[in-house]
Amino acid sequence: MNLLPNWLSQRAKVTPNRVAVDLAAESITFLQLHKRVVKRAFQLASYGIKKGHTVAIYMKNRIEYIELIHALAYIGAKALLLNTRLKQQEIQYQCSDAKANFLVVDESYEETILLSGTELIQLQDLIYRHEKEIVLQSQYDLNDTYTIMYTSGTTGNPKGVMQSYGNHWWSATGSSLNLGLQTNDCWLVAVPLFHISGFSILMRNVIYGMRIVLHSKFEAIQANAAIETKGVTIMSVVTSMLTQMLKELGGRKYPESFRCMLAGGGPVPRVLLDDCIEKGIPVYQTYGMTETSSQFVTLAPEDSIQKLGSAGKPLMPCQLKIVNANGEEVMNGIEGEIAVKGPNVTSGYLNKPEETDKAIKNGWFYTGDIGKLDEDGFLYVLDRRSDLIISGGENIYPAEIESTLLKHPLIAEAGVTGLPHKQWGQVPAAFLVVTSPIKKEELQAYCQSMLANYKVPKYYFIVDDLPRTASNKIIRRKLPQRIEQGRQL
Ligand code: ATP
Ligand code: MG
Repeated sequence: MNLLPNWLSQRAKVTPNRVAVDLAAESITFLQLHKRVVKRAFQLASYGIKKGHTVAIYMKNRIEYIELIHALAYIGAKALLLNTRLKQQEIQYQCSDAKANFLVVDESYEETILLSGTELIQLQDLIYRHEKEIVLQSQYDLNDTYTIMYTSGTTGNPKGVMQSYGNHWWSATGSSLNLGLQTNDCWLVAVPLFHISGFSILMRNVIYGMRIVLHSKFEAIQANAAIETKGVTIMSVVTSMLTQMLKELGGRKYPESFRCMLAGGGPVPRVLLDDCIEKGIPVYQTYGMTETSSQFVTLAPEDSIQKLGSAGKPLMPCQLKIVNANGEEVMNGIEGEIAVKGPNVTSGYLNKPEETDKAIKNGWFYTGDIGKLDEDGFLYVLDRRSDLIISGGENIYPAEIESTLLKHPLIAEAGVTGLPHKQWGQVPAAFLVVTSPIKKEELQAYCQSMLANYKVPKYYFIVDDLPRTASNKIIRRKLPQRIEQGRQL
């Protein structure tokens, strides 16, 4: 057994009076948080929730979310974190697939259909519920599953990723060995808590004893205000958030103490990086996934221009290699699948032994992403293996074509996939949401000026919107379904 003391109760003993969470109206210390969590754990116990149960949560970012996350750990129950953009059918699928015993929801849950096998608890009832005293977990077994998060479902049906206490512990540790930890550190949470990007900040919060500022949702004006006036030193973002924040910031600059803008989900475009450099904002780009319990590879700001487009190097506890179709490691410079190994990597997918066996071989997790390492060992993530287009023997990455198309002033959204072609096997086709009418010749000339000929889309379809997951990622395999509705140029 691999045991550690209960993180939050330990934190409440070690630094009881430090502020744990800053909300708009109040600040909560670690000791206060611990006391609230004990109360919530006893309230949850009164519904019959006990060690070994799985409890789904469907809630917006709010303090009760944080309390519940810890309360479930105090009880020894697993938390299934639901994306609040999921529809009834998807909620039902995840709850039944994970065999969730309970589902706790706040007022943002508008579904009325009852789930079979899963008991619904309204947060409004829970907070006034009587308490039932039970024995709480004073220590955590690092091998025990703590959370279950479903992947976005970009490449297939979402799969339940099991994340253990040890996965979260090592994720937090790896992050601090990379970014360092300063006594004044404070992390702004404006990403969802149900996603690993937000959840992992809660773990760092109690493991480091670091203050966090919690926002119920992302708003550029409030995020900037928190950095400017609340002593925030680190923030996690995706590119679209950063773009909005810079626009709102205008000519202002962040205080010197702001030391890290952690940007995940995809590379930060050059124009945005230049803007950040001009404003003195240190951007750390990062690559990770639900299965690696957050960050796995990170690029330091000093390398961001020289290594433009790279996601950086693995964190201290993490190993990474690029493998070919036979599973053999390839040399730097050669493209292949990214395989990872480390104590923050999941042990597998819930109730899916076949999917797990396909993904984990000899202790290495095969990410399904294609990438390469350069001569200095920096990782470049090219695209998803399943979305790769092979045209006349050449590999084409939709992500590269999409980012080129998005630079065009009249294109609002772009999705690229391969369509069958007699001569070439497959050819790239672009599905576009445009802001004004645009001609095929113009698009073709534009793409030809930016891309090698074989990468230039052969077909263009103007559509109203693109198929997306609950995390707002384009589902490329569903693009051909839009051919009928779209208008071909
Ligand atoms: P599914 O596995 O169901 O298809 P998903 O992979 O989209 O869903 P997540 O775990 O939320 O679900 O996303 C992780 C993926 O996001 C990575 O595997 C990678 O494809 C992409 N990604 C994350 N960071 C980067 C980055 N810096 N550059 C490029 N791609 C990234
Ligand atoms: Mg994935």
